[in-house]
Amino acid sequence: MGTILCSYGGNETVSAEESEIRLSEPYGGTSTVLIKDKVCSHCGCVEDDVDDDLIVQKELSVLKRPSTAKILDALIATGHTDASMERASKNEMTKAALMNEILIKEHVIQN
Ligand SMILES: [Zn+2]
Repeated sequence: MGTILCSYGGNETVSAEESEIRLSEPYGGTSTVLIKDKVCSHCGCVEDDVDDDLIVQKELSVLKRPSTAKILDALIATGHTDASMERASKNEMTKAALMNEILIKEHVIQN
C-alpha cells in the first residue's frame, strides 16, 4: 500500500480507521462488516475507503441469498400458487408487487 493522501489538502496525515456498520436484508437477517474510513488529522476530513463499496456489496449479496429463499417460502405459505409465482417470474413488476404485498402483510402481523 502506498501513502494515502488527503483528497482535499494533499497531506500525508491520513490514517485508516475501522468502523463497523450493520447491514440488513428483509428475511435475510443482519450482518456486520468492517469498513475503513480515511481520516485526515490535518483538515479533519473523513473519506470512505474505495474498497468499502465492494465489501458492502459482497456482504449484501450473501444476505440476499437466504433472503430470497425465505421470501419464496413466505409467498407459498401465504397461498400464492405456483401459477401466480409463474406469472410473477414472467413479469418483474408483478414479482416486486408480490414481495411488497408479503412485506406489508408481515408488517401488519408484527404490529
Ligand atoms: Zn486533509
